[in-house]
Amino acid sequence: MRVDVLGVAFDNVTPEEAADRALALLEEDGPHLVATPNPEIVQRANKDRAFAEILAGADLVVPDGVGVIYAAKILGRPLKSRVPGIDLAAALMGRVAGTGKRLFLLGAAPGVAEQAAVNLRAAYPGLVVCGTHDGYFEEDGPVIDAIRRAEADIVFVCLGAPKQEKWIAAHGESAGARLYLGLGGSLDVFAGKAERAPERFQRLGLEWLYRLLKEPSRIGRMAKLPLFLVSAAGARLRGR
Ligand code: UDP
Repeated sequence: MRVDVLGVAFDNVTPEEAADRALALLEEDGPHLVATPNPEIVQRANKDRAFAEILAGADLVVPDGVGVIYAAKILGRPLKSRVPGIDLAAALMGRVAGTGKRLFLLGAAPGVAEQAAVNLRAAYPGLVVCGTHDGYFEEDGPVIDAIRRAEADIVFVCLGAPKQEKWIAAHGESAGARLYLGLGGSLDVFAGKAERAPERFQRLGLEWLYRLLKEPSRIGRMAKLPLFLVSAAGARLRGR
């Protein structure tokens, strides 16, 4: 059963359960979409109907940010766990390494996906990264062809939301892979271009604070977070 958090339905899973579900999807004919919304993305879906419909039709929707967990709690329908997209990606790579499943990396600035591929092959011995493409392309055709020719099973699509989910919905079928994960800025982290918050921040649910300290220009985007929790409280008071 999915848990509605301000219009987006989340799967109530632990990180391990999420990885199990993703692996199971890989055994069925695709395309399957895995989305990892944070509060900003939920708010975006509230203003973009096409995007909201894509999320409603996704095969697995996990709460990427602690803000979603707080909102769910305020709404009186708590979710088991935060499941950061990047952790789900890591768990999945750990599980498919050595199985022959093929991973394609799509997104970020030119050169980033290639560097991420080098790092990930080293981090997950036996992982098959079958191809890469940057995220600043003008035409979809060559990208679809590249994924198809690489015979990818899994594609990490890192174009930022909602662009990545819309791309997957429009082209996932023609690109031929079974499992597509929308993972935002993850390739920058895998490539070592962006830093993830230290363990302590992650454990305390303060990853957003670390990001803010590193990139103060995010303040505008993040200032919406308290409003997100206020919306959750409002919805609860109205009995929704
Ligand atoms: N990006 C891209 N193509 C675009 C726009 C963005 O490949 O047309 C990449 C960008 O380089 C970055 C990622 O998408 O690597 C978005 O990162 P961000 O942290 O903003 O994503 P979020 O997880 O917050 O949606």
